[in-house]
Amino acid sequence: MNMLQAQEILHSVYGYDDFRLNQRDIIASLLAGTDVLALMPTGGGKSLCYQIPALVRSGVGIVVSPLIALMQDQVDALKQLGLRAAFLNSTLDHASAQAVERALQAGELDLLYVAPERLLTGRLLSLLDRTPLALFAIDEAHCVSQWGHDFRPEYQKLSVLAERYPQVPRIALTATADQRTRQEIISQLQLEQADIYINSFDRPNITYTLHEGQNARQQLWRFIDTYHYRDAGIVYCLSRKKVEAVAAWLSEQGRIALPYHAGLNAQVRQAHQERFLREDGVIIVATIAFGMGIDKPDVRFVAHLNLPKSIEAYYQETGRAGRDGEPANAWMAYGLQDVITLRQMMTDSRASEQQKRVEHHKLEAMLGLCEMTTCRRVALLDYFGEQGTEACGNCDNCLHPPESWDGTVAAQKALSCVYRTGQRFGVNYLVEVLLGRADERIRQFGHDSLSTFGIGHEHGQSEWRTIFRQLIALGYLSVDLDGHGALRLTEKSRPLLRGEISLQLRHDRAVEKKQKQKAQKAGGIVRTEDQPLWEALRQLRLRLAQEQGVPPYVIFHDSTLMQMVVQRPRSLAGLGMISGIGEQKRERYGQAFLEAIQAHN
Ligand code: ADP
Ligand code: ZN
Repeated sequence: MNMLQAQEILHSVYGYDDFRLNQRDIIASLLAGTDVLALMPTGGGKSLCYQIPALVRSGVGIVVSPLIALMQDQVDALKQLGLRAAFLNSTLDHASAQAVERALQAGELDLLYVAPERLLTGRLLSLLDRTPLALFAIDEAHCVSQWGHDFRPEYQKLSVLAERYPQVPRIALTATADQRTRQEIISQLQLEQADIYINSFDRPNITYTLHEGQNARQQLWRFIDTYHYRDAGIVYCLSRKKVEAVAAWLSEQGRIALPYHAGLNAQVRQAHQERFLREDGVIIVATIAFGMGIDKPDVRFVAHLNLPKSIEAYYQETGRAGRDGEPANAWMAYGLQDVITLRQMMTDSRASEQQKRVEHHKLEAMLGLCEMTTCRRVALLDYFGEQGTEACGNCDNCLHPPESWDGTVAAQKALSCVYRTGQRFGVNYLVEVLLGRADERIRQFGHDSLSTFGIGHEHGQSEWRTIFRQLIALGYLSVDLDGHGALRLTEKSRPLLRGEISLQLRHDRAVEKKQKQKAQKAGGIVRTEDQPLWEALRQLRLRLAQEQGVPPYVIFHDSTLMQMVVQRPRSLAGLGMISGIGEQKRERYGQAFLEAIQAHN
């Protein structure tokens, strides 16, 4: 019975036909009064899991979220659906906060978003004591974990909810997968009795491409210009300086590209984030400080111009692409220097020895992902504990299996050059020696008389750098800790030097044609003849959004506009059949969109 109601709400309020993934089961548990722990990938549809039960059950649904900056948008989006929603956090002035509290007491809210520190005040708790409550939703629940990257001490105090409101079902939601975090959420939030739902973490609509980046900036531009010439996207760089430079450079190429990093003041950061959310086709160039909880569903690409520190970071960052389920690209260019810089940063950091070991380990895994020659997705999912998946057909390695070559001899030459020069030199120097370039320094050290001097003519300078990168990534060389990037042999290098094992290396290649075709789908989804209508609908959406000061996707998603283009409905009833158009939106916007469609028939 209740589930019928839930289904009806899905249809009439949200305009969707079917539940996705575990939504149905999660909702059923909550409606039965059972606690839930839900692990779902980004874009999986976590919000519906608590919103719908909050509507079916009597009382208000309390949503705890650390993402204060996004609450306004979340509430705006719910209002667009005709729901009664509000938020309480430190950005509200006293009068507005009081108005929200009055609405809460009067039973005029379906959903209330609160920051954890706000919820834990005695004032709000005693207000809740006197308010009928439908449920508590604890979003971004991994924030309780001390080991995670988003630890919030207030989150650990949320156990008070279990004690104070034992009758009210609670749901904890996160997109962070690992076992340890999961256990911590359960114990910290007292969810021992909860039903646990874990979804596959696969993001099938994301195409993964990782390649080595000589001229990374040019490659980036070619990638953006070819596949995403007007799409919104995020470009991640390691340093603030690089962020600024890349943003300026993309702007010179004619794109709107805005920097985002911790060195900018809060106002500028906020303004850039707003533009990214509210305008079409803005590129944000950011350090990793950007993106937590960014709910923008139509980010069409995430590009990395540096190597992330771990697969967790990589997956989280790339996960911000394609939340709407439409094709999206995760693209990365990395280079030898990244490997060296990251290794040094970790060595120099003030972390404990144990933590450093963990970090090194994570970087190894990330490098392994970069250098592998088989399906990236299989490796990613395997890393997150999902074994036995099949090659995906939607990553660079699947689309064009990389060629490998017998690098044994080259590796031996490189390693003995390291050895003979005393394990005191960095890559550039070693390559010069291999190529027999007797510059002053080399002569000074007498290295022009070494047996390895000039024995590497069969490869060019950039090839040698690639070889060294792979040797480092594969653990045959380590980067010295002295800050100068000197390379040393490792345990692993000996059998290779002695000729007991052979080594396959991968050929680096520039972006290739087939990949282009595949990735193109992500950008150019519209047929040429549909282009004028598509443009008109986007313009209309933008105007309506701007009139109300909300992001365009809050009005309709791209996929909804796309269906309008393809189906060209002629009536409100026809429009209502399209996924993503509930009753409220049909009433409010239906006529305007029908007219736009009519004008293009
Ligand atoms: P998450 O919080 O898990 O990252 P969201 O709750 O923001 O994801 O949902 C991602 C997108 O998917 C949203 O735009 C949402 O409207 C849409 N969505 C959720 N559930 C469904 C469904 N059953 N059918 C179609 N679209 C859905
Ligand atoms: Zn694959």
